[in-house]
Parts: sequence; C-alpha cells; structure tokens
Amino acid sequence: AAKTAGRNRFEVFEEAMREEVVAQSQLSRDLRRATTDGQFLLLYQPQVDVESGRITGFEALARWQHPVRGLVMPDTFIPIAEGTGTIDLIDDWALEEACRQLAAWDEAGLPPFHVAVNISAHRLARGDLADAIRSGIRSTGVDPARLEIEITETATMSCAVEAAQTLHDVRALGVSIAIDDFGMGHSSFGRLRALPVDRLKIDRSFIAALHEDTATGSIAGAMVAMGSSLGLDVVAEGVETEGQLQVLRSLGCHSAQGYLFGRPLPAEEVGQLVRRSTSTVVPAGDTAVP
Ligand code: C2E
Ligand code: MG
Ligand code: MG
Ligand code: MG
Repeated sequence: AAKTAGRNRFEVFEEAMREEVVAQSQLSRDLRRATTDGQFLLLYQPQVDVESGRITGFEALARWQHPVRGLVMPDTFIPIAEGTGTIDLIDDWALEEACRQLAAWDEAGLPPFHVAVNISAHRLARGDLADAIRSGIRSTGVDPARLEIEITETATMSCAVEAAQTLHDVRALGVSIAIDDFGMGHSSFGRLRALPVDRLKIDRSFIAALHEDTATGSIAGAMVAMGSSLGLDVVAEGVETEGQLQVLRSLGCHSAQGYLFGRPLPAEEVGQLVRRSTSTVVPAGDTAVP
C-alpha cells in the first residue's frame, strides 16, 4: 500500500512538474508579445531623505498586465525573461517609458526628482546600454541627472571589463548608478571602489532584522559607514517600521525606501504625492533661516 501511495504521490508530483513547465513556456511565449503589445507598466515607489522625510525620487518597478492571468509580478516574469533574453526588451522599454514619464512630469510643472530604472545583468552585458539611454534622453529632452540605473551587486561581480566600461559610458552621460540589493553578493571594498557608482542600496533583508537583531544592525551600520567613506549616498531598502527608520537615522543612513513611505504607485498618483511632500515637510536644519 505504501508503495502504491508513494508512486501515486510521485505521479502527482510529475504531473505538477509537467504543468509547471507548460505554464512557464506559455508565459515565455506571451512575454515576447507583451513587450510590443503595451502590456507592461511601471509603478513608482518613493525614496525619501532620512533627515527631512522629503521625497527625493522614485524607483520604477515593472508590472505585467497579462490579458488572461491579470497582474503578474516581477518575481514571476523576470526570471523567465532573463532565461529567454526578453529581459533586454523589457529593460529598454522601462528606460524609454521612465524618460517619457519624466518629461510628462516636467510638462505638468512638478519639482524635479530622480527616477531609478532597474537594469538586468543580461542587458548590461550587451554593451550598448549607454546608446539606449542616450536615445531615450535625446528623444524626450529629459535632464540626464534625473535618471538613475540600478544594477544588482551580484551583476557587478560577474561584471567583465566591458561591463565596467559600459557603466563608465552611462555615467559619462550624466546618469547616476546605484548598486541594488547590496549585501547579497560578496563584493570587496576594493572592487566597489573601482566601479563608477553613486549610490548603495542596502538589501531589505538587513533592514528587516534591524529592530530585533543587534548583530545585523551592526552589519547595516558597517554598510552605511563603508558607503559613506566611499562618498556614496546610502539607501535602505524595505523600510517598514518607524523603529527601523530610527535605527537608520542613528546609523547616519542618508535615504530610505519602503512601505513605511509608500508602496509602488501608478504614475498618476506620483504628482499628488510629490506636491504634498514638498509643501508640508520642513527640511531639517532650516530653522535658522532668517
Ligand atoms: P528591487 O529592485 O530590489 O526592488 C525592490 C522590491 O522590493 C520591489 O519588488 C518592491 O515592491 C519591494 N519592496 C519595496 N518596499 C518594500 C517593503 O517595505 N517591504 C517589502 N517586503 N518589499 C518592499 P517588486 O516590484 O516585486 O520587484 C522585484 C524585483 O524585480 C526588483 O527588486 C527588481 O530586481 C526586479 N525588477 C522590477 N522591475 C524591473 C525592470 O523593469 N527591469 C529589471 N531588470 N528588473 C526589474
Ligand atoms: Mg531595484
Ligand atoms: Mg533592491
Ligand atoms: Mg531585489
């Protein structure tokens, strides 16, 4: 009986595996069409200055509006897109869309803030990233200083000489570079110093443990100190509680992003949020202004 049950369980498992494989290959086929069919959208999550609480910019996060499955999250489609190379199309679309949106916000008279776009290791390795960014900037007339790209720490570690050159080309355009999910890879201080980088984003796993675990707290502290000593702007990802924000403030962390300040929002809601942020927040240190 145990044998039969075991086999049945295996058969059930095998069937589930088969369905999963079919679903994945269906998704990867749909994905290729999605980039040309306007099924992607960007949501924007605020980033704030830790001292003043003021919004300094947004990270653009992709969503896939699948005609049948509904909203598909990046954790589902990015790995598939990376496996098939479709990720390059998605990243280029996101760059162009972010530039277009920045120009639209300018047009609407919003005060300037930056927008960060995620770029995969795959897209970075292709070597023509700076060209794609340049054309996005030119066609929209957006100030390059408003644009930032995020590359994961892991991506920079497998970063060949050519990829480092690409980052230099991107930075030469006046675009900033942020290292995403910092702490997940094991890059050295020396390696980091050799790359053209403006910001360090501490992975949210280190922030999640901040209130309960003093050892991890000191790791985050070391990251803030290291980033600061390199002259980088240090951003904490995934800040969810007031307690975490307080610890980050005491550590001297410059910027923060997370549900405490806001979830990723549709572009239409960004304007309102920015206007509210600039009109109600009194910047720290301004009390002595005559
Ligand atoms: P990421 O770049 O590290 O983005 C941060 C992720 O953390 C986002 O997930 C965001 O919604 C989530 N997050 C923000 N604040 C909090 C918080 O307080 N708590 C928690 N638990 N989570 C928070 P999302 O939007 O699902 O994106 C996941 C990943 O997919 C991103 O991680 C990024 O690596 C990738 N991704 C998203 N859009 C793009 C894109 O256009 N191109 C590429 N190549 N990758 C993208
Ligand atoms: Mg990111
Ligand atoms: Mg991240
Ligand atoms: Mg991530």
